[in-house]
Amino acid sequence: MAFEGLSERLQSAISQVGKGGRITEADLKQMMREIRLALLEADVNFKVVKTFVKRVNDRALGSDVLESLSPAQQVVKIVDEELTALMGGEHVPLNYSKQPPTIIMMVGLQGAGKTTTVGKLANYVSNDGHKKPLLVAADVYRPAAIDQLQTIGQQLDFEVFQLGTQANPVDIAKQAVEQARRNGNEVVIIDTAGRLHVNEELMEELRQIKQAVQPHEILLTVDAMTGQDAVNVAQAFNDSLDITGVVITKLDGDTRGGAALSIRSITDKPIKFTGQGEKLDDLDVFYPDRMSSRILG
Ligand code: GDP
Repeated sequence: MAFEGLSERLQSAISQVGKGGRITEADLKQMMREIRLALLEADVNFKVVKTFVKRVNDRALGSDVLESLSPAQQVVKIVDEELTALMGGEHVPLNYSKQPPTIIMMVGLQGAGKTTTVGKLANYVSNDGHKKPLLVAADVYRPAAIDQLQTIGQQLDFEVFQLGTQANPVDIAKQAVEQARRNGNEVVIIDTAGRLHVNEELMEELRQIKQAVQPHEILLTVDAMTGQDAVNVAQAFNDSLDITGVVITKLDGDTRGGAALSIRSITDKPIKFTGQGEKLDDLDVFYPDRMSSRILG
């Protein structure tokens, strides 16, 4: 389960202080040390950990935690609020255009779960009342990508726009949007190419697609299991493309949670969804407060 290790360690760090009623500054210090280790072990970015621990510590010292008869409860409240803030505070919903079609560009490295997420998102927007999402196969480099998207389209009974592997991805995206306008598709989701690593050629192509179709959302998929690599990837994509949000995939397999906890403060872009499995309905809308409650048990 996601955050398993972190959950356990944070809960145990906090419960240590609650044992005998009041606590001392030394108890608090010890607890902060354990919270710090728990976060580092969860692969949270070290700068993020440093700031987080300082905030929790300052708030605990500034409040009546030391005088309180239930210090653990008060610490839990502070940690809960700070974890929520760390993951962005408020939930940021998908930005639908007032004038359809809403254009969503999906970007990410190969294997991150981009194509699967295109399907999941199409399923989500359709259930959310936005009719006939059009899936667009603009990854012309990976041989099986178009077939994969078509299979997903068939499963969900949504149309897939494709022009084969010889066409230019920018033209594919433009023509897909034109078709969506003609046919009344309310959302267009473009599956762009990935690479194994971030590279300038890829970014240039993505910038051209962005320029051509002016998407309402550029969502980056990153694989939670890659931890701090996911954070670095997010930073690179954001620097090049000014993304509008992140989808953290494979959270079901990530026991640590470092990416989910670091990405918002490093990129300042909201996590909008999390992938929780391979099936097309395994997509959760991301709520920072709910995630924090889940971590703290
Ligand atoms: P792409 O190369 O980025 O388009 O990645 P794919 O969509 O082909 O996904 C790569 C692999 O990750 C596939 O086996 C997917 O089933 C799997 N996958 C995608 N999202 C999730 C998720 O949220 N959880 C799990 N467990 N697997 C996922």
